[in-house]
Amino acid sequence: MRKTELDRFRILISDERARVERALAKHTQIIHHEGEDFGGEGAKAHSNHMADQGSDEFQYETTIHFASTEGRYLYQLDQSMQRIEDGTYGKCQNCNTAIGLERLKAKLDARLCIECKEKEERDQY
Ligand SMILES: [Zn+2]
Repeated sequence: MRKTELDRFRILISDERARVERALAKHTQIIHHEGEDFGGEGAKAHSNHMADQGSDEFQYETTIHFASTEGRYLYQLDQSMQRIEDGTYGKCQNCNTAIGLERLKAKLDARLCIECKEKEERDQY
C-alpha cells in the first residue's frame, strides 16, 4: 500500500477509534451505575422494585453485550493501527495478498481478504 493511502487509513482508524471509545465509555458508565444499584450478587433479591426488574435486567444484558462487542472492535482497531506501523496493514494475514482498498474502507479492521474471510466463515459452520 502506498504511504499516502496508509496515512489516510491511519486517520480513518483513529477517527473510528475515538468514536467507538466514546460509545464504550458511555455504556461502561451505565454498567457501573447498574452494578451499584444491584449491589453485586444476592442484592437483586432485596430489590424493592421487583416489577421493573425484568426490563432492568434486559437493559443490563444488552449493555454488557454492546460493551463487549465494541470492546472487541476497539481491540481490532488497535491491532489495525499496529499493522499500519508495521507496514503489514492491508495484507491478508492468511494468504498475504492485498485485501483491497474498497474492502478496507468498508471494514477498517479487516485482517483477511474476501476469499479467506469467506472460507473462514464456511469452516465455522
Ligand atoms: Zn487471503
